[in-house]
Amino acid sequence: MLARPLKYARPASVAEATALLRSHPGARPLAGGQSIVNVLKLRAAEVDALIDISRLEELRTIAATPDGGLELGAGVRYVELASAPLVRERLPIVADVADGLVDVQVRNRGTLGGNICLNDPTSNFPPLLVALGATIRIAGAGAERRSVPAGDFFVGPYRCALEPGELVHSVVLAPLGGDEGVGYQTLQLARDSWALARAAVWLRRDGDAIADARVVLGCLGPRPARQGAIEAALLGGGGGEASVSAAVAAPLEGIDAVGDSHASPEYRVEMARVYAKRAIHQALAQTEAPA
Ligand SMILES: Cc1cc2nc3c(=O)[nH]c(=O)nc-3n(C[C@H](O)[C@H](O)[C@H](O)COP(=O)(O)OP(=O)(O)OC[C@H]3O[C@@H](n4cnc5c(N)ncnc54)[C@H](O)[C@@H]3O)c2cc1C
Repeated sequence: MLARPLKYARPASVAEATALLRSHPGARPLAGGQSIVNVLKLRAAEVDALIDISRLEELRTIAATPDGGLELGAGVRYVELASAPLVRERLPIVADVADGLVDVQVRNRGTLGGNICLNDPTSNFPPLLVALGATIRIAGAGAERRSVPAGDFFVGPYRCALEPGELVHSVVLAPLGGDEGVGYQTLQLARDSWALARAAVWLRRDGDAIADARVVLGCLGPRPARQGAIEAALLGGGGGEASVSAAVAAPLEGIDAVGDSHASPEYRVEMARVYAKRAIHQALAQTEAPA
């Protein structure tokens, strides 16, 4: 099917883009176009104008923050995240996740901002950003940016905490300390197939014990789901096989798994526990001094 006729604008600045979005309530930003063009061709959304933000340099920067973290522009493409030395050096998991996305065509066009604003339940970045405790910086009217924690940004399937007339400006990530680790594990039948279950984990050790943790499951509900009971069960433990196995058996939260021709809901949930365990061990391994 062809998309309905619509208007197109290519603003020269973020301020102009947000002004256009405010004055055209039926307009949507166009970033990599990897998802919205399909949505328009399926006529699955009422959109009467596209505001092309894909060439705004202000959204295309990868910057070091003074505390040792990163600020990633919403318009940075996966291929740029995967190959940026600064991202590799400071938060290699972000580069790895970008590098693992689908295929070269999608990686060449798709953007970080598009990924999180689409917020498909199977999207790669939302669970990772919640696990990392990222902050989403949002541009609206005026020069001030407002900030929303990633944990509050993903509201539901295909919905995020943007108000009309706003767009995502950038994602801010804190640095990883030597006593912190990150894990990210996905169950996929093939690299270019939809994920069945996903787990993202951040944790911090204090001596021999896990002192803090964020465990997030993706693909199994309306939004990336933090697992408070698993996190609580991990705290104070040493991260041994038995204690991690016991922790991932804790009751799950925010899960509404659906079945399809690939997997039953029960299988997805069971696999989510298995992949959460793997992600926890992956994160723990980064906090251990090399032998
Ligand atoms: C074959 C195929 C397989 C895919 N598989 C996966 C996969 O396994 N995992 C995965 O994570 N993704 C997958 N995707 C989706 C891909 O990652 C998309 O690129 C991404 O979801 C959207 O990014 P985009 O830059 O193309 O955004 P667009 O398609 O341009 O926009 C997507 C939505 O976000 C809005 N938007 C974009 N940028 C902003 C912004 N800065 N502020 C506010 N709103 C904004 C748009 O208005 C639109 O509503 C796949 C896509 C294809 C075509």
